[in-house]
Amino acid sequence: MTATIIDGKAFAARVREQVGEHVSRLKADHGITPGLAVVLVGADPASEVYVRSKGKMTVEVGMKSLEHRLEADTEEADLLALIAQLNADPAIHGILVQLPLPKHLNEDLVINAIDPAKDVDGFHISNVGLLGTGQKSMVPCTPLGCLMMLREHHGSLSGMDAVIIGRSNIVGKPMAQLLLNDSCTVTIAHSRTKDLAEVVRRADIVVAAVGRPEMVPGDWIKPGATIIDVGINRLDAPEKGEGKTRLVGDVDFASCVDVAGAITPVPGGVGPMTIACLLANTVTACCRANGLAEPEGLTA
Ligand code: NDP
Repeated sequence: MTATIIDGKAFAARVREQVGEHVSRLKADHGITPGLAVVLVGADPASEVYVRSKGKMTVEVGMKSLEHRLEADTEEADLLALIAQLNADPAIHGILVQLPLPKHLNEDLVINAIDPAKDVDGFHISNVGLLGTGQKSMVPCTPLGCLMMLREHHGSLSGMDAVIIGRSNIVGKPMAQLLLNDSCTVTIAHSRTKDLAEVVRRADIVVAAVGRPEMVPGDWIKPGATIIDVGINRLDAPEKGEGKTRLVGDVDFASCVDVAGAITPVPGGVGPMTIACLLANTVTACCRANGLAEPEGLTA
């Protein structure tokens, strides 16, 4: 068997197009332009790249993008004051504080200072609780993107056995919650899980969010299972030239593609969906703030 490749890049382009159409309608019918504020503290090179690319795509779909760049030694009180100002600004519908923050800043405190209705990353404790109780919330972007791809591929996920490898607050746990809300039977595996291979072999759906290059081999996969590979790992690639690197996922694509029914590649799978879902969350937040109908298919 050779798996269907789930093309996250193409899917993300369709999601952005849908967001763009909704933004146009909000402008034309209501005179509202959704606004996303991204706050970057310090100059972490990977974060710089993400923030640039988020800003570019925000503008491309017709939304307003605001970037706030603060020095690495910014005091917590000053960051909290900026968040309070953005919370109070009616032109801003989404606020994202780029993580990780410099060590001297308390991430939980900062994230929980964001108005939950503008928390487009879905990390605020209120949104975590709402998702956990199956209520309307802002949903973390990466798991939301994974859910959209799974729904697109399978239609209903009801009754499927899902194994998520990884229990982080940003991917593993919200992914589990989303799949549970879609009536999967969910197992969360982590570094202390006994006989991980056997656990994964039971799964109709495997979501790998570990951060270990090519950790999941094909012989762990039930024939026909769907694999969502969240991992982004950069490896040296001397074969491409001196100093060159390549990206791989947490799944050994070469051996899994022969066994799985469907699989997301790295790059070009989950990655592009994350920013698309950030834009989707911003337009959703804007609609909710204005008491307007939310776009169909862009939320959990
Ligand atoms: P974390 O480091 O926060 O969590 C990793 C999880 O993997 C932990 O729960 C850990 O278990 C578990 N784990 C580690 N080693 C093993 C092992 N040997 N067997 C089973 N489980 C193990 O990572 P994130 O969730 O933040 O990210 C995971 C991956 O996803 C990374 O590669 C990251 O780059 C990528 N990512 C990609 C995104 C995208 O847009 N595509 C967005 C976010 C992340 P324990 O809790 O016991 O330590």
